[in-house]
Amino acid sequence: MKLEKYSFGIGDRFGQQGKAQLKAFQIAGGSGIEIVPVWNKSNREHQIIHSTPPETRQEADEAVQDLRWKAPYYVDADHINLDTVEPFLDHANFFTLDVADAIGSRISDDEVGGFLKLASPFKGGLMIPGMKASFEVTEELLVQIARKYLGAIREAAAIYVHIADHKGADNFIAEISMDEVEDAQTPLELLFILLMIRHFEIPAQTIAPKFTGRFNKGVDYEGDITRFRQEFERDLLVIDYAVQRFGLPDNLKLSVHSGSDKFTIYPIMGDLIKKYQKGIHVKTAGTTWLEEVIGLAMAGGEALQMAKDIYRDAYVRQEELCKPYSAVIDIDPSSLPGPDKVDQWDSEKYAGTLRHIPGHPDYHPGFRQLIHVGYKVAAELGEHYLALVRKHQGVIAEQVTTNIYQRHIERLFIS
Ligand SMILES: [Zn+2]
Repeated sequence: MKLEKYSFGIGDRFGQQGKAQLKAFQIAGGSGIEIVPVWNKSNREHQIIHSTPPETRQEADEAVQDLRWKAPYYVDADHINLDTVEPFLDHANFFTLDVADAIGSRISDDEVGGFLKLASPFKGGLMIPGMKASFEVTEELLVQIARKYLGAIREAAAIYVHIADHKGADNFIAEISMDEVEDAQTPLELLFILLMIRHFEIPAQTIAPKFTGRFNKGVDYEGDITRFRQEFERDLLVIDYAVQRFGLPDNLKLSVHSGSDKFTIYPIMGDLIKKYQKGIHVKTAGTTWLEEVIGLAMAGGEALQMAKDIYRDAYVRQEELCKPYSAVIDIDPSSLPGPDKVDQWDSEKYAGTLRHIPGHPDYHPGFRQLIHVGYKVAAELGEHYLALVRKHQGVIAEQVTTNIYQRHIERLFIS
């Protein structure tokens, strides 16, 4: 199983929007851009919603069947490890091996020694084709990188072998992720992480490093975009070099766990992947859920009221809802409108506040992030919430498709 050049991860908290999501990929196909969809859902999300991996599989299969989608598609067991992978094994064909927690875990001197031997040809002034300056690779630096990452990649290998034993090595895509950490990995660290991946014989097809800057959920990128551009470009060159020198899969590509809506850096990424004719995997967070709330708000009446009630509850429970996401959201509580004020809003005001249109006078990133993590509130409303979503599926589907196509696919792959 070989992942295509362009793939795009789509989350769908409540599993209702598979067709509306897939439609965006059909529109892209019509514009000559072939992107394969990957329905991703993490264990954390399943637990909060009380959904299960077979449901995600069913959603994907049904959407594909109903829309007669002929290209490949995938179901991603997102951010799994040995403790959480089990329920996904029969239903996913893409596994994101999350080893962030194993970074810096203990390894023996023997293991470090083994890695140093492997890395010794790269010591000294290392020139990566396409880069203007060489890297200075010292023994000390290699030891430092080994102590930091070798345990994590050994862990990735253990997860990989476990999945391969169950499914057969040719029946799934493996991604290695270490994005949910504080410090970005440098391009040079990435190079030696890739060497470790080779060392442990993991045929990873995508790798998700932590990039410089903040990737908050559902809102734009925050950080130094010049630095991001330089880092992203170097990462692409490092991957090229690693594929050739280490014999990694030739379709190995970067996976950007975007947390969604990184509009500022989409054109940079789009530009660079075109420049080097590289593939990319972009993973979005569950902003489809936000489009459901926008659709409900637009529908008015009891649906708008439910959107307001969700906000009220989320507002009161800020601390609890934000806690699992503390590293990836930034809300200034004092900037949030009070629920009584929101209760006065009409459809347009509510939708305009939540919808991510940079520069729109009503758009409020704090409001958006709070609703983003507030899906637990809707999960608790259960059937009451889902019934209204189904009732207003027409207007919601339009939001979902437009969001993925116009705000994401167009910015990244077309314009
Ligand atoms: Zn991630």
